[in-house]
This record gives sequence, C-alpha cells and structure tokens, in this order.
Amino acid sequence: MKIVLLGPPGSGKGTYASRLTTILGIPHISTGDIVRDEIKAQTELGKTIKEYSDKGELVPDKIINELLAKRLNNPDCEKGFMLDGFPRTIKQAEALHRISKINLIININVPDEIIITRLSNRIICRKCGTIYNKLTLKPKKDNICDKCSGDLYQREDDKPKVIQERLNVYRKKTEPLIKYYKKKSLLKNVHCNNLMTPPQEIVEKIKSIIDRVQKPK
Ligand SMILES: [Zn+2]
Repeated sequence: MKIVLLGPPGSGKGTYASRLTTILGIPHISTGDIVRDEIKAQTELGKTIKEYSDKGELVPDKIINELLAKRLNNPDCEKGFMLDGFPRTIKQAEALHRISKINLIININVPDEIIITRLSNRIICRKCGTIYNKLTLKPKKDNICDKCSGDLYQREDDKPKVIQERLNVYRKKTEPLIKYYKKKSLLKNVHCNNLMTPPQEIVEKIKSIIDRVQKPK
C-alpha cells in the first residue's frame, strides 16, 4: 500500500505515521529526512543541497524528485510506504505520480483552535530537548524536566500568533492539493476534533481506512 499522509503542523501526523508504519511493516518516508541524510552522506547532490540551504533557499523540486525516486525504488518500499511532508504542491503531486502510483491519501483534519491550544502548551527541556505539554503531558514538577531537571521553555515557533500564521500558510498551500486528490478519488478524511483524543484512537481510525481500501467488500 502506497500512502501519503497530509495534515497541518501540530496535527500529530509524525506520531501517527511512525505508529502506522510499525503496524503495517512499511517504511515511513519524509523528504526532510531524505534531504538531511543526503547532506550527511556528503554526496555531490548532498553538497549542492547544502549550498541551497546555507543560502536560505528552497531546494529545487528537480533535486527532491530525484532523491525521492531513488528512495522509493529501494527494496524496502516493495510492499509500500507512507510518505510524510510530500507532496506540498500540485506540481510535486504530478511528479510523484510519475515516480510511483499512490493508492491512498489520508488527510488529517484538525481545527485550528485545537492545534493552537496543543502547540501553545508545548514546553521543551532546555538541556535534553524532551517535549512536554502543560495540558496533556505534564512534567512531575512545574517547569522542570523529569529526566534531567533542566528548565522547560516555550519555543518562539509555538506562540499562538506564529502558529496561526503557519496554519494559514499550510491551508492556502494544500487546499488545491486536496482538490486534486479528491478528483482522483484517492482522498480519505480523518477528523480529530478533541484535544484529549488519544493518538492511538486516530491511528486505529486510519488503520481501518487502509484495511477497507486494501480489501474492499
Ligand atoms: Zn531534560
């Protein structure tokens, strides 16, 4: 099963993807990871990518597509894969279509208020980077890390105003993409309308959609 996972920042997408790929026995592929690995491996392409990112420029689609094609042709993708963070535009979706035939797009829907509440309550340990949440994953002592006793702080990115801006950008960018995949009848929606919904519940919802697509009755 070749799956694309769409969802706004703060939707829990990364958590769902890693749990699902474990259950399904397929790799979790994120273009961000592919790019970082290529830079780390110091290949010619990796060096070119580093030049772009050092200049603060976006890595051109052509390079991303080349890397993605290489990755999706790896033997571990034979049974399928779960793609996360790609495509973000129609152009990228068309390129992906040429690289591989996707079976299913899961679109995770979470209202802005929930994402803002979740992310603006996120606090991180200054020393070890462990993530906590003042609502859903509290440290034992206020503002002190359970693991290393470091102090906990809020990232600049996690302030409500910044989150709202990130969400606006995401919605504007992905709206055409969602229409594109709807037209192809590949899109299935999953909704999470409650902050306290355990991630496992969403994972099970997605899993049952995958099962239905895989073995239609
Ligand atoms: Zn810590």
